[in-house]
Amino acid sequence: MKTPRTIQESLDNIQTWEPHVNAFLELCEVDQEGLPADVAGLLQGLPIAVKANIATTSGHTNASSKILKNFKSPFNATALQRLLDAGVVVVGKTQEDEFGMGASSENNGLPPQTKNPWDVSRVAGGSSGGSAAAVASGEVFMALGTDTGGSVRQPASFCGVVGVKPTYGRVSRHGLLAYGSSLDQAGVLTRRVADAAHMLEIMAGQDVLDATSSPERVGNYVDACKKDIAGLKIGMPKEFFAEGIDPEVKTIVQTAIYSLENVGAIVQEISLPLTPAAIAVYYLIAKAEASSNLARFDGLRYETSDTDTQNLIEYYKHVRGFGFGEEVKRAILMGTYALSSGYVDEWYGKASKVRTLIRKEYEEAFQSVDAIACPVSPEAAFPLGSKSADPLAMYLADAYTVPMSVAGLPAMSVPCGMTKNSLPVGLQIIASHFKEERMFSVASAYENAQTWKDLTPTLPK
Ligand code: GLN
Repeated sequence: MKTPRTIQESLDNIQTWEPHVNAFLELCEVDQEGLPADVAGLLQGLPIAVKANIATTSGHTNASSKILKNFKSPFNATALQRLLDAGVVVVGKTQEDEFGMGASSENNGLPPQTKNPWDVSRVAGGSSGGSAAAVASGEVFMALGTDTGGSVRQPASFCGVVGVKPTYGRVSRHGLLAYGSSLDQAGVLTRRVADAAHMLEIMAGQDVLDATSSPERVGNYVDACKKDIAGLKIGMPKEFFAEGIDPEVKTIVQTAIYSLENVGAIVQEISLPLTPAAIAVYYLIAKAEASSNLARFDGLRYETSDTDTQNLIEYYKHVRGFGFGEEVKRAILMGTYALSSGYVDEWYGKASKVRTLIRKEYEEAFQSVDAIACPVSPEAAFPLGSKSADPLAMYLADAYTVPMSVAGLPAMSVPCGMTKNSLPVGLQIIASHFKEERMFSVASAYENAQTWKDLTPTLPK
C-alpha cells in the first residue's frame, strides 16, 4: 500500500485497512475544503495519526482508559502543535495500552483490539500499537506515539516501520498524559528514516511549558541522514544476544549489524553488564511514578459509570475500580508499595541508584564507540492473547528497550529483515545523549543499503 501524502489517500487506505487492523480508537473530522490551497508549509495537508494519550483539540484524549473516556483536550500537546504549525492534519486517535502500560496494545480500556498488519492473528506491539499499525498499513504518513520503556520502538519493530524515541528532554512532554514522568518521551513512527528525522526536527526543542525540556540546540537531523558513516565505530553489546532471544531474530539482527561494515562502519563487540538489572529498575521507577501520576484521576467528569454512592470516598472507590484496567491497578499497587514509608529506600531508592549506574555504564561505552546496535525485542510479534494472562512474561518482553529509557538515551528501531513466518524484525540503534544526528546517520546508511524498506504488508483475505 502506497504511503499516503494527501488526506484523500489516507482516508482511502483507512477504508481498506481499518476493518482488518483496528489501529484507531476514533477518526477525527477533517475539513478538506478548509485546507489552504497555497502550499505554504512543506508538510501542508500531510495525514498523521496521534496516540490517544497525546493531547489534541480534535477527537478525545483518553489514553484508552474508561476513566477519561469523554475527555476532550482544550489544547494540543506542544510536540503536535509544532507539527500542526508546519501543516500536518490529524486524521485520528490511535489505540494503545491504557496509559501506555503494556507491550501489545491488549491492555486497552476501550475497544477495539489492534492487530498486526503483517499477520492479523498477532499483536501490533505496544503501547503505541495503533500508531505503528496505522503507519505500516499506509493509513497515515506518520504517527505520533509515546515511549516510556519501549512503546514506540517495539511496535515499530513488530510492524516493520521506523520508530524513534528521542533523548529524554529533547521533546516537550507538555500535553502527554503522564505514565513515568522521568522516562516519558513523545516519539515518531514513519516508513522511512529521513521522514522520522524531518518530523523530529520540527517537534524537538525547549518548551516553556515543560521544565524538563532541554535548551540543548536541535541538530540538523535531515542532513544527518545523508552523512557517510565510514569509520564510525558501532558497539554490539553481547548481553543483548545471550539467553532468551529467539535464534532467528538473533541471526537477523547480527547479520544486519555486520552489514554496516559494507558501508564502512567498524563493528566491535562491547559489554554492558548491568543490562539484566534494567527490567527491575525500570518497572520499580515507572510504576512508582505512575502511582503518583494516576492519583489525579477522580472520574468526576469524564467517565460514564452511573453510581448511586452518596459518599465521596465510596464514589472514588467505585469509579477508580471501574475506570482503571487491571494493568493500571497493578501499577498503582506496585508503585504505592515501592514508595511507602519503610520500603521507599529499599525499593525506589535502590532502583534510582542502579539507574545512575546504568546511565554511567552507557556513558562509558560511548567513550569508545559512536553508536550501539542491538535487537529491539527478543522476538517478533507474538500471537494475540499469548501473554495477556502473564504480566511478568509481558514485562520481560521489554528487556532490550528499557535500558535506554532508564539511561535517557535516544534510540530507534529500523526494519532489518523478516522471519520465515514473514514477520518484521527491527534493529535498534542508540546514540549518546542529544546525539540524535549520529543515530539518524547510522539508521539511514543502513536503510539505504538494504531492501526491507520497500516491503509493505498485503491486505488480509
Ligand atoms: N511495556 C512497558 C510498560 O508497560 C513500556 C511501555 C511504554 O513505553 N509506554 O511499562
